[in-house]
Amino acid sequence: MANENNAKKRMLGWYFDFNLLYRILIGLAAGVVLGLLFDGGILRIKPFGFEIPIQWIKPFGNVFLRLLKMVMMPIILSTLIVGASSVSPANLGRVGLRIVVLYLITSALAVLIGLGMGALFHPSAELSGVVEAAGKEAQAPALSDTLLGIVPESVARSIVNETILAVIFFSLLFGMGIASLKNSSDQRLKTAGEVLYSFFDGIAEVMMMIIKGIMQYAPIGVLALVAAVVAENGARIIGSLGVVTLACFAGYALHIIAVYGGLVKWYGGLSLRRYFKDAKDPFITAFVTRSSNGTLPITMESAENLGVHKDIYSFSLPLGATINMDGTAIYQGVCATFIALSVWGHGFSVPQIGHIVVTATLASIGTAGVPGAGALMLLLVLESVGLQVTAGSAVAGAYAMILGIDALLDMGRTALNVTGDLSCTTIVAKKMKELDTAKW
Ligand code: ASP
Repeated sequence: MANENNAKKRMLGWYFDFNLLYRILIGLAAGVVLGLLFDGGILRIKPFGFEIPIQWIKPFGNVFLRLLKMVMMPIILSTLIVGASSVSPANLGRVGLRIVVLYLITSALAVLIGLGMGALFHPSAELSGVVEAAGKEAQAPALSDTLLGIVPESVARSIVNETILAVIFFSLLFGMGIASLKNSSDQRLKTAGEVLYSFFDGIAEVMMMIIKGIMQYAPIGVLALVAAVVAENGARIIGSLGVVTLACFAGYALHIIAVYGGLVKWYGGLSLRRYFKDAKDPFITAFVTRSSNGTLPITMESAENLGVHKDIYSFSLPLGATINMDGTAIYQGVCATFIALSVWGHGFSVPQIGHIVVTATLASIGTAGVPGAGALMLLLVLESVGLQVTAGSAVAGAYAMILGIDALLDMGRTALNVTGDLSCTTIVAKKMKELDTAKW
């Protein structure tokens, strides 16, 4: 048996040993080339008289989309419950409200910056002509209904119907309940809290493993999805991905300068130069690892070096790594605009912008601090304005193009995510007189 396993491993070793990031980029490039070989949706292999319709390629991409959707609900449930139950109730009261409000405000600003960059750079793959039916603009619900819908009438129904905002709300409450059980002085309650925590922690870990496995398939999924888009629309759409990248990075840069710069310098009255001297370490680590969670020890060390009291950062940074994702919010604003422009041929109306700000802010809360999680949550933001990612639709095609360059966009957004956590933490510490200014 062991020998058999080894043989299998060796058989696909060349695939699994090769860096995933490069594999996905190769998948993207190969998808473009393959798509260009199709003529009128058919690939003709002349010497053999073979004809391959694009329909045969599509299922390889669609299965990838299904796998991503499959893990969305369990990953949100488990990571949010674990995240919220790791916070001690005592800290929640003292610093919690301030930090959460700051996290939410900066995330909402980030979505607006993302949408603004989308409008400014106007990235579009112009898929509109081909897919009337698939990209039909659904009537988005009224904003007040979306806000009210955050509170579920029935938890079971919100899970079954995939009303993600309601699931996020319930998971946070449930996690806080577990946190208070874990901290109870009654041994029975304490044990119950710890068992529940371990249970959801186990689910979260298993989901991470499954996602890792799914990502091994990403190069093939991206190849098939992109080949289908290019076969149906031609190569002209590729340049638009460059514009998406540019718009995202311009948004990231603006957010750092205007929002974090503004917070640290004007709101906190602190030196920017001193701040970035220590903030650069988590920034670079996050850029390379693409994981807020993975960067957490470095972010904590920077907070310590900046003179933030441990009481504050030991609570606010893990919370931030779970719920505060400004880079992800910017990315969602830009990508949603790209997909709307590509499919509908026009951007968002004012009510739709309201929806996106609410949904993307909450979606960034639901985004796990691991590589690629933001792309999963983009599905949710798109659905909130009627851009359903269904197999074979133009929305799915445009979404697949984004997936092809997601690793690159993820580097920038993760770097921003952790910088956001550190900025808000430093400011709250300063305001609560828990910052050792002698270190500045
Ligand atoms: N990779 C990001 C993070 O860890 C999440 C995302 O994919 O947006 O913060």
